[in-house]
Amino acid sequence: MKPFLYYRPKTVKDAIAAVASHPDARFIAGGTNLIDLMKRGIVSPEKLVDINHLPLKKIEQKGGFLRIGALALNSEVANHKTVLQKHPLLAQALHAGASGQLRNMATVGGNILQRTRCNYFYDTAFPCNKRTPGSGCGAWEGINRMHAIFGTNEKSGQDSCIAVHPSDMCVALLALDAVVLVTGQQGERRIPFGDFHRLPGDNPELDSNLLNNELILAVEIPDAPLTRHVHYLKVRDRASYAFALVSVAVALEIDQNNIKTARLTMGGVAHKPWRFPEAEKIMTGQPVSESVFQQAAEAAMQGGRALEHNAYKLKLGANAIVQALKTAVGKA
Ligand SMILES: Cc1cc2nc3c(=O)[nH]c(=O)nc-3n(C[C@H](O)[C@H](O)[C@H](O)COP(=O)(O)OP(=O)(O)OC[C@H]3O[C@@H](n4cnc5c(N)ncnc54)[C@H](O)[C@@H]3O)c2cc1C
Ligand code: SF4
Repeated sequence: MKPFLYYRPKTVKDAIAAVASHPDARFIAGGTNLIDLMKRGIVSPEKLVDINHLPLKKIEQKGGFLRIGALALNSEVANHKTVLQKHPLLAQALHAGASGQLRNMATVGGNILQRTRCNYFYDTAFPCNKRTPGSGCGAWEGINRMHAIFGTNEKSGQDSCIAVHPSDMCVALLALDAVVLVTGQQGERRIPFGDFHRLPGDNPELDSNLLNNELILAVEIPDAPLTRHVHYLKVRDRASYAFALVSVAVALEIDQNNIKTARLTMGGVAHKPWRFPEAEKIMTGQPVSESVFQQAAEAAMQGGRALEHNAYKLKLGANAIVQALKTAVGKA
């Protein structure tokens, strides 16, 4: 690891100024992703701005929404009384991620901004457009069983990036219509969760639409009657401590056996957490039934495009959607 400067600000303003004053500075929170990347030589920031002393740890219900500070730990959020009561989908997704020890270090902001787990991104012997723009994509002709089936149409071949976003928490936040509150030298702004992460396009090195030097302050989840019929299903190679092959977050509002509201998102399938508005529409207004769930699953996976090794995700994804929906309504 290369030597780096270390600074520990006490205010948000100071933190932003500290990052902005150096061309190669990074915020560090729990460090569970960034330090790994530094040890492996994937990134070598010259300055780390440690944000752990900023007042961004609170989890609080405000009028109409729950605000979760960017420095709230994954374990604190997963076990928080209000989260369990009002947003059990988020608690389920967090519990499915990493391990107890990691969740005790990992923060909400860091989880949102964690980098992909594409093996070729981590192996500097291979080309990678995300690590070194323009160098090519090791996964395109490599082993791509973990890679994307949605959002890969913009570019293909060696110019592309077919990596997936690895977070579990983000899949639930997308389903729950969360908003990310950020601040920077231009002031505060609010980014709907679906607009926060990006598709790779011409800039696979960028994972999100966060501007240089911007800091995540919090995420806000609006109140919604989506507490009872929810489920997060993660399918992975091992029962724990493994990233998703595919994961599904579902949340339904049901009135007398009719689906009033449906939310359906997936992880492990695209460069960003992926939502299925068409499938949600198919379920809305319909009675709760396996055939409706099947139709929604088919519609969801229809636009998927398989690579050489990941065609299994199309079928697995459809099955996982149906299973998650059945579990959410107690009919699994
Ligand atoms: C072995 C292992 C297994 C894992 N398994 C899973 C899993 O199954 N599911 C899953 O979802 N995750 C998994 N993870 C990832 C883990 O959840 C992330 O490493 C963690 O959430 C990152 O949070 P952090 O606070 O440690 O971030 P850091 O490593 O400190 O930072 C990550 C990035 O976010 C930036 N950053 C952090 N906070 C802010 C902020 N407030 N504003 C702006 N930028 C910020 C940093 O600059 C850095 O670029 C795993 C990790 C490991 C090591
Ligand atoms: S899929 Fe993306 S992250 Fe993986 S090697 Fe290709 S460019 Fe790099």
